[in-house]
Amino acid sequence: MPELPEVETVKQYLDKVIKNKVISDVVILHNNIICGDYDFFKKSVIGKKIVQIKRYGKYLIFVLDKKFVILAHLRMEGKYIFFKNQENISKYARVVFFFKNGGILNYDDSRAFGKIHIKNKSNYFLTDPLKKIGQEAIENINVNQFYNLIHKKKKNIKTILLDQSIISGIGNIYVTEILFKSKISPLTKANKLNKNDLSTILKNAKCILLDAIKLHGCSAKSFTYSSNKKGQYQNFLQIYGKNKGNCPVCNNKLTKIKISNRGTIYCNKCQITK
Ligand SMILES: [Zn+2]
Repeated sequence: MPELPEVETVKQYLDKVIKNKVISDVVILHNNIICGDYDFFKKSVIGKKIVQIKRYGKYLIFVLDKKFVILAHLRMEGKYIFFKNQENISKYARVVFFFKNGGILNYDDSRAFGKIHIKNKSNYFLTDPLKKIGQEAIENINVNQFYNLIHKKKKNIKTILLDQSIISGIGNIYVTEILFKSKISPLTKANKLNKNDLSTILKNAKCILLDAIKLHGCSAKSFTYSSNKKGQYQNFLQIYGKNKGNCPVCNNKLTKIKISNRGTIYCNKCQITK
């Protein structure tokens, strides 16, 4: 699933190709992508100009010139692909936006798990799904705030960092790297971590996510943007995906387990369980 750096990469791509374009038509090719009434969605976006593309956590926000925003989540395989030629429909196109003066944006999603909402510009942060999303992991999240949110929780820290209602933008790839760099086992219970530990986690989260943004995300799985462009952060991963490998710091064989049904890899020497 695309995480914060990959969604940010898509945001930057969209900003280049569709900002200031006016939507002239929308074709919905799959039933489950648009949340709510299709006719209302179409009526709300046709004729509107996309004035800004924003991101919050793993959500994309297309700000329209009047009244509405389009709020979109890529889930597993969602991709936005822009073509200058309006005949170009991509293989798994689910929703297609046509623009005045040329150009077409395909929302392509082989698994069709992605979601697109239409929301009121004035209050979209106060309604579902964004009202339940926690502060972004690349913002200067206050360690005291983070401590207050989690210090009574008995869940392990990996599960906590993946919970978008607590802190947003982190998924399985980056949580693996963040906890490795922080020398904390993913099995450590949140209530065992002190403020110093949390400060280390927040600092490393920010550092890793910002580095990954610079490299246009991680294509260790299927992430691409534009027409099949890959990010480069997979070349800098320390332990994610190295299932049979050794720790790059101590050469100990890496441990592979499941946590909340997610594949989890860590070094049981460098990463301590408190
Ligand atoms: Zn190690």
